[in-house]
Amino acid sequence: MANERWFACELHCHTVHSDGDFTVPALLEAARARYLDGIALTDHNTFSGYMEAKTSVLPVVLGGIEWTTYFGHMLVLDCARYIDWRDAKPDTIDEKMRLVHENGGLCGIAHPFQLGTPICTGGHWDYHVRDWSLVNHLEIWSEGAPYLNTPNRRAIRLWASLLDQGYRIAPTFGRDWHRTKNNPLPSACTYLRCPAPLTPAGMKHAIASGRTVVSVGPLFTFETADGKTSGDCIPAGDVQLVFRTDTTRLSDMQTENTFVPREIRLYTNGLREVLRLPVSGETQTAQITLDAARWYSSCLWGDTDGRQDTLLAVCAPLYINA
Ligand SMILES: [Zn+2]
Ligand SMILES: [Zn+2]
Repeated sequence: MANERWFACELHCHTVHSDGDFTVPALLEAARARYLDGIALTDHNTFSGYMEAKTSVLPVVLGGIEWTTYFGHMLVLDCARYIDWRDAKPDTIDEKMRLVHENGGLCGIAHPFQLGTPICTGGHWDYHVRDWSLVNHLEIWSEGAPYLNTPNRRAIRLWASLLDQGYRIAPTFGRDWHRTKNNPLPSACTYLRCPAPLTPAGMKHAIASGRTVVSVGPLFTFETADGKTSGDCIPAGDVQLVFRTDTTRLSDMQTENTFVPREIRLYTNGLREVLRLPVSGETQTAQITLDAARWYSSCLWGDTDGRQDTLLAVCAPLYINA
């Protein structure tokens, strides 16, 4: 769509309505201070904070709940009806997710490999999902300094293995934002590609259709010469891919988290690397043959936070027709 652009969002936030320290106005102010265009307010098991936040213009607020259960934490976004999560059991989670979808909501898995009991009861995903097509998004990165975090590496492997099986799941970052203090680690964001001006419906549609990029700051995207990008499905064959690395976005993150983009790498099934390109400018192109029935995700690597050869950004895949 002609007026689409990428908006910086934080998709996992808490307030005093659950266990956060933020009042709703303080969270909105903190989001503005970080140049975030949108947030998803995902308090534990309540949407009372959202009732206070929903008229916010900047940031735009998408309503949600973090189902906080003994077997995992699930981000339920914009569901028309409160669905009782208390009887969700490992073997019945598919039924619960179907109910969410029947009521217009999205299902996302929060921090799937966080340490569980006794550190955070239920923080580890222990549900037995049978039909992963019910899962819209998955936090491949969570919390501070996401590139350092071992659970995040496991989350990326889980996500890639689901893509290999043919599921289309949007990668997201969740800061699991509770407070400004006591969180000195560099953070990240999820960029969503939406029609301008940003609306909650636009955010929701971007997540549902896989138009996401997780990044420590740079807006890194890839598309075909005719504009097909993350979330789209295209025919196999020779294409020109256009990579864009915009380091001017989220200026506060750059003071918090310096980074130097070095390499663009393209991955496909099995997390196999099929292209490596040194970063040499804001826009670069490469000619490549895309194979049938595969996914291709572009990633940005570089230096950040005093570390070299670090993952800086992950684009949701382009999918190739069977
Ligand atoms: Zn959680
Ligand atoms: Zn949370």
